[in-house]
Amino acid sequence: TTTMTSNDLHQRIRVCVRKRPLSKKETAHGERDVAPVVGARTIQVNAPKSRVDLTPFTEQHSFTFDDVFDSNTANIDIYRRTALPLVEYMFSGGKATCFAYGQTGSGKTYTMLDPHHGLYVRAAYDIFAMLSQPQHAHLSAWVGFYEIYQGQLYDLLNQRKKLVPREDGNSNVVIAGLREYPIQDVDRLMEVFDFGSQARTTGRTGANNNSSRSHAVLQVLIKKKEDKAIHGKLSFIDLAGSERGADRGDANTKTRMEGAEINKSLLALKECIRALDKDKRHTPFRGSKLTQVLRDSFVGDSRTCMIATISPNNPNSEHTLNTLRYADRVK
Ligand code: ADP
Ligand code: MG
Repeated sequence: TTTMTSNDLHQRIRVCVRKRPLSKKETAHGERDVAPVVGARTIQVNAPKSRVDLTPFTEQHSFTFDDVFDSNTANIDIYRRTALPLVEYMFSGGKATCFAYGQTGSGKTYTMLDPHHGLYVRAAYDIFAMLSQPQHAHLSAWVGFYEIYQGQLYDLLNQRKKLVPREDGNSNVVIAGLREYPIQDVDRLMEVFDFGSQARTTGRTGANNNSSRSHAVLQVLIKKKEDKAIHGKLSFIDLAGSERGADRGDANTKTRMEGAEINKSLLALKECIRALDKDKRHTPFRGSKLTQVLRDSFVGDSRTCMIATISPNNPNSEHTLNTLRYADRVK
């Protein structure tokens, strides 16, 4: 039936929205939630009349997605409806990608890469549980962690070494020289992740440098023990802050260049995911380094889950609307 199809956790592309709670500070400022979730799949963005001065719109915008997670949704429920189907798909031999897209401060890192709440940790528990099953005894897990900044790849597990991606004969994307670690359990994965995260935050110099200007990619590979051939792949991607793409008019040349690159990569990403759904022959993956690197996740039978993260409060409602519009175009 239609209902079953629309809630199918194994569809090729799933687009979900996650709304974070109001922070203590926002609550203390008397800010209110202007993005009510209506049912399990629809969200509205309102601009309350009393605060109309702060927003460019007064009408209500309504969007429907595969899932909309309200601010009180438990992490485990989000995991079950986003990353878990991708973990299963990876074990069946496929390539999958899970993205967090949204404004800085909306919960991308919290959702994807937070060591306590992030989807990657939940996924890791399932991955190692599955690897311990007899039918998977021939497989093992490997992890790589890199960052894409200004169209350039940096290995977060190897002193921010610059890397160059290429394709092998089997349409796998190979990032030449990327350091990959074999991982036996969740603790080891978190240790390696933690090491890479430090390289992410401390690697660059300058006052404005922070993680909102780069895309972070944590990639888990399931390989055959015998010949190390890739069996399946799952990438967790914490995208650059979507509002950075609008820095194009900024007076600062560096900020402007960063903004242009981020804008380009987020547009290319949208086009590639859209092409995936339409079985188009030509996927515009060459549009950016981000999509080039993810090429093997956009061709053939692959799975994608996009989680658009949004802030609930009125001062952010214009960014929220932009995020929902982007996600709406992807689905
Ligand atoms: P981003 O990576 O998009 O810039 P963060 O993940 O750093 O945003 O989140 C911003 C702040 O909001 C952090 O302090 C984070 O802990 C908090 N936060 C985000 N999402 C949630 C959530 N779903 N529940 C509780 N706190 C959250
Ligand atoms: Mg972040």
